[in-house]
Amino acid sequence: MFATVALLTLSVARGRGGVVSDAIALIGEARTGGLTLVLPDAVADVRVREARLPGRPIVLIDPGHGGRDPGAPGVSGTIREKDLTLAMANELADLLEQRGRVRVALTRENDKYLTLDQRASIARRLQAGLFLSLHMDSAPNPLAKGATVYSLSDVASSAEAARFAQAENRSGEALSSEPDDSVRALLADVALREQMEISAGLAERLLRRAAGRVELRPRPHQFAAFHVLRRAETPAVLVEAGYISNADDEAMLMTKEGRAPLVLALAQAVEADLATRSAR
Ligand SMILES: [Zn+2]
Repeated sequence: MFATVALLTLSVARGRGGVVSDAIALIGEARTGGLTLVLPDAVADVRVREARLPGRPIVLIDPGHGGRDPGAPGVSGTIREKDLTLAMANELADLLEQRGRVRVALTRENDKYLTLDQRASIARRLQAGLFLSLHMDSAPNPLAKGATVYSLSDVASSAEAARFAQAENRSGEALSSEPDDSVRALLADVALREQMEISAGLAERLLRRAAGRVELRPRPHQFAAFHVLRRAETPAVLVEAGYISNADDEAMLMTKEGRAPLVLALAQAVEADLATRSAR
């Protein structure tokens, strides 16, 4: 159950000649809590659920895929990745809201297609303190199972991690080239190193919380060059909750009860990570 959501709308107005300029409009009673971010190009509104105390960081949960991009199919043929990621993201958002220690938002709350740039843009515009992208894995080997957590790196931890990042980048229409000139690029690089370091710490924390409660892959922390993680410009991890190409994992991920241990581990890790960082 949510508290009444008032609207604090951050809108983007198009100036003359197609130049986009930021403008802020305040609507409704911001003091009671909610905030809705209106993004350009029909990305639609992003609702932020308030914490019990004001000024808490925003956790942005990103349910992978959506709309015309279904993600991986389940082995039973009855489910698709995009539906499971949305269900899990809603459960995690509800739990975080209930616990009340952080503010929480979703990149999509329904079956909508978003590019990776749109997802990352939401993170930047919200100035999210943490970005968590949720996915379900799939592999040709039907025995492959368990959860994996990916954090951003220039160098992939394995050929499989590199292939996986490439596939995810393709599915979200990522731009392949990054500009790398000038002092700005150097400063961005320093910030990016820090972003990678904190993200790797978050991945480790998450795996410690999940250990013993959730089945993990033998090397559960992987690194790869994910476009969406880089462009979020905030500590970010991508969680593969399990393999829907495996009958056991699929059966587990299809029910709320089956997803619950990972959802709880994610909530606890996210809260602990943000508490540690704000205490510094
Ligand atoms: Zn995916």
